[in-house]
This record gives sequence, structure tokens and C-alpha cells, in this order.
Amino acid sequence: MKTLRLILGDQLNIKHSWFKETNNDVVYCLFEMRQETDYVKHHIQKVIGFFAAMRQFSLDIESNGHNVIYLKINDEKNTQSLTDNLSKVIEEHRIENFEYIYPDEYRLDEQLKAFSNNLNITSKAVSAEHFYTKRDDLKQFFKGKKQYLMENFYRDMRKKHDILMVSDQPEGGKWNFDKSNRNKWKGDVSIPNYKLFKNNVDTIVSDIENAGIKTIGRFTTKTFSYPISRAQAIEQLKYFCEHLLIHFGDYQDAMHTEETYLFHSRLSFAMNLKLISPKDVVKTVMNYYRKHGDNIHISQVEGFVRQIIGWREYMRGMYWAFMPEYKDLNTLDNHNKLPDFFWTGNTKMNCLKHAINNSLDNGYAHHIQRLMITGNYALLTQTNPDEVDHWYLGIYVDAIEWVQLTNTRGMSQFADGGKIATKPYVSSGSYVNKMSNYCKNCHYNKSKKTEDDACPFNSLYWNFLDEKRDQLSNNFRMGMMYNLLDKMDKQDLQNIKEKAQHIIAHQDEY
Ligand SMILES: Cc1cc2nc3c(=O)[nH]c(=O)nc-3n(C[C@H](O)[C@H](O)[C@H](O)COP(=O)(O)OP(=O)(O)OC[C@H]3O[C@@H](n4cnc5c(N)ncnc54)[C@H](O)[C@@H]3O)c2cc1C
Ligand code: SF4
Repeated sequence: MKTLRLILGDQLNIKHSWFKETNNDVVYCLFEMRQETDYVKHHIQKVIGFFAAMRQFSLDIESNGHNVIYLKINDEKNTQSLTDNLSKVIEEHRIENFEYIYPDEYRLDEQLKAFSNNLNITSKAVSAEHFYTKRDDLKQFFKGKKQYLMENFYRDMRKKHDILMVSDQPEGGKWNFDKSNRNKWKGDVSIPNYKLFKNNVDTIVSDIENAGIKTIGRFTTKTFSYPISRAQAIEQLKYFCEHLLIHFGDYQDAMHTEETYLFHSRLSFAMNLKLISPKDVVKTVMNYYRKHGDNIHISQVEGFVRQIIGWREYMRGMYWAFMPEYKDLNTLDNHNKLPDFFWTGNTKMNCLKHAINNSLDNGYAHHIQRLMITGNYALLTQTNPDEVDHWYLGIYVDAIEWVQLTNTRGMSQFADGGKIATKPYVSSGSYVNKMSNYCKNCHYNKSKKTEDDACPFNSLYWNFLDEKRDQLSNNFRMGMMYNLLDKMDKQDLQNIKEKAQHIIAHQDEY
């Protein structure tokens, strides 16, 4: 039976059982499409990276003997729609059976479900063979529970997969080493050169220009620096183990004006496109740790493992547990717009300038820049979560809805009312100063609240707490901050609120 197998751009898993054997009756298809380049305005490097990895994948499987139909963005036969392309291929190649891998995005899942239901040939969907958990595992795990605590899920994952366990107890005597993961980087520990690939993407760039695809962000390096194949992903992972793991946990939350990646792995793009699996990543890191445990403290390894088997799987499970309703949640009733400087980096606030320019230059910002700088600012200025989602979904090379939405709308914007985070991740300038050197050379003064040169985060913070009192004052983790707010002199609070409202109304002047 002649079978067509669809490979979506984020399903480039060459280890998938589909590719174990060649079969002349099976043809694989990959499409570059306006449907995918235009559902949000993406960073130029994100479009480049997806096309580069897809083209490389197609070459790799073809050279392994598989039949491939690949439609480039400007191909005459390309209808730019997934279902129209599939219909045409099915007809032209007299396909009798259609197969696809379960998409990780709700949007594509619905589209392919509807398409398959209307086909007059047989069809089936198969597992991506990538994640530790199945789509609904997390929903089942938390069935009947009020709170979906990541920590509980993570501990269960550690036990279930026997990772960093000594019989049924956590290795090192603790489930987490969060307290030792909060150091400021002061330049005393040297950061190795970053592992940047020099993938030539000239043809792809002109294809994107010729197609007239609208993008955001910059691409000044001219070569694409993230891994675009399994081989490169493995190289990146090896580099991480040998050079960065040793301090990963220590400086996980640190930020610095001169350092883009610090000790972060830069693996999210490769993992999200499934060039490499989380199991491969964890296994490699654990093997390295077992061999070099004398030099590497367990806190570095646990910090990393938590991100992969904990946060990454948890975010995916939450996405499938609460979609499609999750996409519209706005519990804090926020409706402001993001300022223009999110697309230009043109602001006097040094922390935002660095986090945003990092994003514009590299399609990347590390976790704490995303959470405590751009996310914190968007929440304090009471921005509509739809606006925030669009920006995050477009700007990062690793942004795919299943992981972006839960991180942005949930963890960072608290728009889900606390399904993911137990309290909003908001802070004044003092936290930024504690974790970075941003405040040192900032136009604003981190210790002032209402003066012309006062750090905007300070007035925005107290104004936010005051305005969201109805939704937040009963949150037990916010009690201390509301006590402080209640003790504040009424006139002082009034001045602070006026300052904050001026900032919100004139964001691009700050
Ligand atoms: C507002 C916001 C939006 C985010 N959007 C995305 C997104 O679109 N895509 C994405 O992959 N990550 C997202 N994250 C999570 C995290 O910031 C990135 O995974 C990380 O910065 C990628 O860089 P890295 O590979 O160097 O990560 P490292 O710091 O080296 O971490 C290792 C790996 O752990 C995983 N990881 C770490 N934190 C998380 C998390 N919170 N959720 C899921 N996986 C995690 C990633 O796969 C990452 O590659 C977001 C976080 C926030 C706060
Ligand atoms: S002073 Fe305020 S605006 Fe400036 S870097 Fe620090 S936190 Fe950011």
C-alpha cells in the first residue's frame, strides 16, 4: 500500500522508528509554508533555523535511502497550506494510506485530525517518540488535585525514571538545590567561549526575502549558530557537559551585560525540533557526571535535570491538560499594549535594553531574562497576555506554542490564576540588582521610587500590587508584600501610583 508520511518542521527525529528501515512504498513529505511562517511574525533567525534544519533533515533521510518530497517556500507546486499540499501529493502520487506524527501544537493537531477524518484513504497518527511523558500523563497524575505543583510531578519523574536516586531517596539527600542556584556572576569565574555553529544559510535568506515573509529581529552574523542536525546537537551537548555543566546550577539565575549565554546550554532549539531527545540529553549529562563527579557538584546536575524532566515535560503536560481554554485566560484582567521598544531595544532601562537586544540579535534570552526582565515588566505594566504571547512566540528560535504559552501566559504573566506559578513573578529593581550588573550603569536609580530618575520597576511594582489587590491579597505567598503595602504612607502610595501610571501611559519615553 503506497503510504505518505508527513514530517512537520518540529519533528526532525532521525531516531524515530519510521526511519529504521527503507521501504519503496513509503514516501515522506516536508513543506516550508506561509501557513507556518505567517501565523505570528517570527524572528528572522527562527524562520532561517527551521528551514535550515528541515532541508538538512530531508538530505539526511534521503541519503539513508528514503523517498522524500520536499517543497521549498518558493516552489511552484507549493500551495502554502498544509492540507492543500497534502491533498495534492496524495492525488498526484496515488497515495493509499496517510500517516503523521501527533503534532505538539493544538492548532496543527486539530487541522490534521479534521483532514484525516475527511480522507477517503486510511490514515493514522503515531507518537513523536521524543518526550518522557505522553500528552495526558500529567493530567492523570494530578487527577482530583487542586494544585498542579511542578515539584510533585518532578519528584515522581525522578523516581519513575530512576534519575539521581539512591533506592527511593534523592541522591545528595535533597530533591532540589535551588538555594545554591542563585548566585550573581561577578566575573570571577571565567565563562568558556560559546559553542556557535557557522551554518551557511545564504540561499535560505534569499528564499525568505524573495517570498516576502515578514519577520522581526536581526541577523547580522550571516551564519546560523544553533544546531541544525542531530550531529550538531550532539556536539553542542558534549560542549555543554565538558565546559558549562560545572557551573550551570550556580549561575542559572544570573544576568550580565557582557554575557549572552553564561553557562546555559543553548539546546532548546535542537530539542524542540527533536533533533535530539530529552532522554539523550539527560543520559549524556548523567554519564558525564558519573565519570567526573569529583569535579562537578550534584547541585549543577540536579539543576539541569530539573529543567528537562521537570519543567519541560510539565509545561507540555499542562498545555495538553488545559488547551484550548488556556490560550484565552486573562485572570488579572490586563489590557495594555507592549511598548514599541520591545521590537527595537530602544529604552533607557538597562535591564530591558539588554534582555531585548539579546532577543533581537540572537533569537535567544536565557530563562531569567525572559521571566524577570521582559516578563516581569510586561506584567507590572499590566499588558494584555495576548500581546505578550505573540511577542514571545515570535521572538525566540525555540518558541513553539506548547512550551511558549504555558511559560508566558502561565508562569510569567499569571494569567491562568495560578495553575502553574504559585504567585506572580514580579519584582522591583532590587531583585534585578541582586542578580545582575544591569543597575550599575543604568540611567535610572534602583533605590528611588518617584523621582525623575527613579527605577520604573519600583513604582510599577507597588502600583501593580495595589491594583491587583482583589485577585492577589489572599495568596498566602503574597502576604508579606501586602503587609508592607498596607503600612505605606497613603500620600507616598499616591505619588508612587501617579508615577507608575505616567510610565504605563508613556512607556516608550522611558
Ligand atoms: C516567559 C518565558 C517564555 C519561554 N518560552 C520558551 C519557549 O518558547 N521555548 C522554550 O523551549 N523554552 C521557553 N522558556 C523556557 C526557557 O527560558 C528556555 O527553555 C531556555 O531559556 C532555553 O535556553 P537554553 O537551551 O540555553 O536553556 P538551559 O538554561 O540550558 O536549560 C536547559 C533546557 O531545559 C529546558 N527548560 C528550561 N526551563 C524550561 C522551562 N521553563 N520550560 C520548558 N523547558 C525548559 C529547555 O529545553 C532548555 O534547553 C520560556 C521561559 C519563560 C520564562
Ligand atoms: S535601575 Fe531599574 S531599570 Fe535600571 S537596570 Fe536596574 S532594574 Fe532595570
